Amino acid sequence: GPVAIVCVGMAGSGKTTFMQRLTSHLYTHPDPTSSEPSVPSKTNPAAPPYILNLDPAVHHVPFTANIDIRDSVNYKEVMKQFNLGPNGGILTSLNLFSTKIDQVIGLLEKRTTPPELIPEPEQSTVEFMTNEGKGKSPEGQQHTHQEPSKSPIKHILVDTPGQIEVFVWSASGEILLSSLASTFPTVIAYIIDTPRTTSTSTFMSNMLYACSILYKTRLPMILVFNKTDAQDAGFAKEWMTDFEAFQEALRNEEEGGSFGGETAPFGGGSGYMGSLLNSMSLVLEEFYKHLSVVGVSAMTGSGIDEFFKSVEEKRLEFERDYKPELERRK
Ligand code: GDP
Ligand code: MG
Repeated sequence: GPVAIVCVGMAGSGKTTFMQRLTSHLYTHPDPTSSEPSVPSKTNPAAPPYILNLDPAVHHVPFTANIDIRDSVNYKEVMKQFNLGPNGGILTSLNLFSTKIDQVIGLLEKRTTPPELIPEPEQSTVEFMTNEGKGKSPEGQQHTHQEPSKSPIKHILVDTPGQIEVFVWSASGEILLSSLASTFPTVIAYIIDTPRTTSTSTFMSNMLYACSILYKTRLPMILVFNKTDAQDAGFAKEWMTDFEAFQEALRNEEEGGSFGGETAPFGGGSGYMGSLLNSMSLVLEEFYKHLSVVGVSAMTGSGIDEFFKSVEEKRLEFERDYKPELERRK
């Protein structure tokens, strides 16, 4: 069956680029967990994803979303009409969109079911919201024999607003996520800007944020260290598995009297920050055990096969651990 991958992360971490990379990978890799691209054929077809864009404020989406919040909600108009700033505009747009979630789920269910199992008639009343047939991604056009809009979908990709908190901490974000998760196995991909996470303090902040999202959403999570073309993610993996290594890095940064390249406000040496980070990293050890970690470059495509392997692991985890919990909470 299909799996939903929801991309969250700080603005600029690379969510949209990552989505684009996942999409083109799925077009060229009939088995997305394999690093070898192969030409999709009748017997070995590629399974293009179904794409949801939930970012109302994005100017340019480099792929064609099947369902785009911008088609049903005009963010600029919402700001004007309700006299809102950018964040209020995004939140209100999400609220408006979330009232249509049942129709969205209906469409998704239709597209993830093999055609022969779809009862007639299947004409939907929300055609205005979808981009089916309006245009396909360039990759789609290269494989016209594939008829992407007819084959059942295996992956649902969801892009979220740059303002991560608007999605994760709002009622409408919760409605969208829980509707999705009660219909499909759903996995959170938390995208991290690796080059900007190399100091112990920014690393720790990022991990705590991911941790809060894990506990808020209660969905399986993959930490995606992006931009490995610019900065290898080895340091992060080491810090997550070897507490000694993280402490060592803390000590080194303290000796330099700086955190994140800035002068430490609490003084270096035996500083307050050092001991705080130290104790927090013990808390995070438990958190790390529940995560999958992959290093990728959305730009070059490296590590994307690893990512899809993690998705398969997390899908199983969802069925085993998360689904019973969701049912119980209903
Ligand atoms: P979003 O705000 O999270 O959707 O981030 P975007 O996908 O818009 O990317 C933000 C910036 O990071 C853009 O300038 C991208 O070109 C850049 N970027 C994204 N992925 C990568 C990557 O893998 N490597 C490098 N070097 N840059 C990247
Ligand atoms: Mg984006």
